[in-house]
Amino acid sequence: MNFEVSNIIQKAEFLRSLGCCSVCSLRLSGIPNNDNFHSTITYSDTMKNIFGDLESNQTSEICIICLGILQNEIQNSSVEKISREIKLSGFDSEVFTCTLNIPISVKLREKSISTLLNQKTKESHWNGPDINKYSIKEIWKMLILPKVEKMTSKRQTTSLASSPFSVNIFFSYSNDEIDCENLMKKYLNSLKLTKKQTDNRFSKNNIDKILNDITEEIAMEAFSTPPSQPLVHAIMDKVKCTRESLFVGGRYMKLSRKLSQTPWFVNGQKKMETSVQDILCNVIVNYTRAESFKFLSSGREDIDVRTINIGRPFAIELINPKITTFSSETFRKLVVQINDSSDLVKISSHLRILSPFDLKNLKEGENVKKKFYRALCTTKSLENSLSLEKINLIKNLKIKQKTPVRVLHRRPLASRDRTVHQVRARYLSHAEIKEIQEKNPNKKMDYSIMGQFFIVDIKTQAGTYIKEFIHGDFERTKPNLCDLLGVDLDIVALDVTSINLHWP
Ligand SMILES: [Zn+2]
Repeated sequence: MNFEVSNIIQKAEFLRSLGCCSVCSLRLSGIPNNDNFHSTITYSDTMKNIFGDLESNQTSEICIICLGILQNEIQNSSVEKISREIKLSGFDSEVFTCTLNIPISVKLREKSISTLLNQKTKESHWNGPDINKYSIKEIWKMLILPKVEKMTSKRQTTSLASSPFSVNIFFSYSNDEIDCENLMKKYLNSLKLTKKQTDNRFSKNNIDKILNDITEEIAMEAFSTPPSQPLVHAIMDKVKCTRESLFVGGRYMKLSRKLSQTPWFVNGQKKMETSVQDILCNVIVNYTRAESFKFLSSGREDIDVRTINIGRPFAIELINPKITTFSSETFRKLVVQINDSSDLVKISSHLRILSPFDLKNLKEGENVKKKFYRALCTTKSLENSLSLEKINLIKNLKIKQKTPVRVLHRRPLASRDRTVHQVRARYLSHAEIKEIQEKNPNKKMDYSIMGQFFIVDIKTQAGTYIKEFIHGDFERTKPNLCDLLGVDLDIVALDVTSINLHWP
């Protein structure tokens, strides 16, 4: 046995005599670094003879460092509980990332023991590698996760990549606070803490900072060394499986003038049976068995406005979705299912999984994109003499819009500069008037005066209040089409005809 190995064994034996479990004794005594703790510790039969088989790291005493987390009894039940929770969670991911939360007092106990060990090393002229080669988390993962992999048929990620599916494990220790207090008694007394600091003194951040700042001398003086024998062991009290959100997007057409974009509630009562959001999201949320969702769209339309042609870009954030793999066939079926479910809303594109870049694009596109509208307008004040030529000359017209009266109750009063890029107006043909009459038999409108009805196509900057640009909103939008034509206008119907965005 070489000199270094013999020193390591002496250290490990010293730790063992203080009440550390075999695994902690070895991991804290500075065994040479190796990819695999198991293979490292079995490299010496001598060690095996002294410390026994680490697979059965079992003593009647609870380890003064890991509080039993690395000891056999807890490990076996942990493997079962974690595997069960992973299976029950139902996530389809084949790969998982595991995070481990351990009680704060383990950190303090490690600091206490390493301080003592350093002192002993100096006194005994031991040498060898630094201590703390392996953290409790690393060792725990090496010991436990291969067994979990076997039971769940899922793999943990390599250390370099993380998986969107994570298994978060929480160990708690009922004596954590008392322990922290005892271990740091002398140190805490010498600190002048404010009330707030006192309340949070054992938070992870605080403890990390203290352990970072503290010198070896102060630590030796301040901590109780070695740490006291714990009366209860730590328990694994929670396993939480989560998956990062998945985003699915496409474009939709809104074909109804009596439908809100999102569910409309007044005093907790749903005012409309359904909404654009309900129709688009329910099918996809059901398919993915997501815990919840958020509906995102590139702008929104009023209840009485349709979105036609290529449709409006939208995305659905699926929160904690269980099913996350989609074939193009699955997407196709989902589109059919959604489109069959309602005549009010249709998906007008394919669906696909979105990247963070896509979402940025959707969000930014809301401000920079151009929008196209078609309005059916009417005026009562004149006959066939109104010339639309004036508004057809509009090119990049700058307008000022005060917050419209109709939204003042939910938006702050402000004045916004917007640009209307282009306007094209024309009178309706006989055929078009006839068609409108037939489609709206109940509308009390006199369609007999040809000159009263015209169509306006407007290309405008996103964020323009289009209804207000047409009727003026009591002169709160200036200039407006009424001013420019010198007559009063009403909007019979409004459609969004195009939203310029490379999507989906
Ligand atoms: Zn231990």
